[in-house]
Amino acid sequence: MISSANGLKACARAMDVLKAGGDTLEAVVQGVTLVEDDPNDTSVGYGGLPNEEGIVELDASVMHGPTRRAGSVASVRNIKNVARLAKLVMEQTDHVMIAGEGATRFARAWGIPEMNLLTERSRMAWMAWKQSQRDGEGRNNWTDGLDAPDAKPSAALRQIWPEASDEMIAWAFDVARRPPTGTINCLALNATGEMSGTTTTSGLAWKIPGRVGDSPIIGAGVYVDQEVGAAGSTGRGEENIRIAGAHTIVENMRHGMHPREAALDALKRIARNFHGDEKKLGSFDINFYALRKDGAYAGASLWNGRVRRGSVSGFQFAVNDGAESRLEKCVYLLERKA
Ligand code: ASP
Repeated sequence: MISSANGLKACARAMDVLKAGGDTLEAVVQGVTLVEDDPNDTSVGYGGLPNEEGIVELDASVMHGPTRRAGSVASVRNIKNVARLAKLVMEQTDHVMIAGEGATRFARAWGIPEMNLLTERSRMAWMAWKQSQRDGEGRNNWTDGLDAPDAKPSAALRQIWPEASDEMIAWAFDVARRPPTGTINCLALNATGEMSGTTTTSGLAWKIPGRVGDSPIIGAGVYVDQEVGAAGSTGRGEENIRIAGAHTIVENMRHGMHPREAALDALKRIARNFHGDEKKLGSFDINFYALRKDGAYAGASLWNGRVRRGSVSGFQFAVNDGAESRLEKCVYLLERKA
């Protein structure tokens, strides 16, 4: 099993499914379901950061190596476990992708319960973002009425959430200012060489309603070729879509590259799309994960890491080869200086 760094538990769960003789796709879906259910992962499933209107919209895809089938859902509202829903599209329809209201109605038809996916934590971050938007006069309709007494921006949030800790309010402002990327991609290879993959996400925070990222795009967010290997991605989806990243990596592996080289080549294509302009490239992050049919694997990131409080914290990915899940370092293309 390999996955993005938020998948230590997901890989462990998926490995348990494999060990019990379960199918590789069932394994990855059960793995990422843990992350979709977790309100504290604000980039996936329940508790994901919402769109610009404060509504959580989820994207997910699955691909099953042995049958070469795929399924995906995009811009889904009110349904928590969208990787499972994508699997249902794969198994129970003659389609590959269902989006928006149609996806929620499809879920309803299968008796999947609907729920509000927005947690108070994510609503607070959204409100902080909403209140930080200013017009040319420095005004915002959502706060700071002209007649209001002067107050710090945090006071407005404190009024709505009197119980919130200082730490949580600071987090909300931080997320409002620099929306984090996140998502989980999870890839499986079992002892008989069967492979599957899935990617599930709440997408970019504060996106335009209906914006679809790379995660539900077969060939971008995930791709599996039973003869070759599997790949997937997290990070700025727009850049991944423009190079069909997961498919590119699988093709690179087909032509003999190690997963590491295959993923670095995809990252080079992204850099090429910006003529190597490091200022523009520096404004986003993107990671790839690649698993070859013979068990070789890699995680690769565009940048060596994120700069936090003056030091660079490197990107990692999760691996489970039968024992405990562990994090390994991603190889990278470009270097940010502390
Ligand atoms: N790749 C996801 C998207 O673009 C977001 C992310 O991984 O942060 O929707």
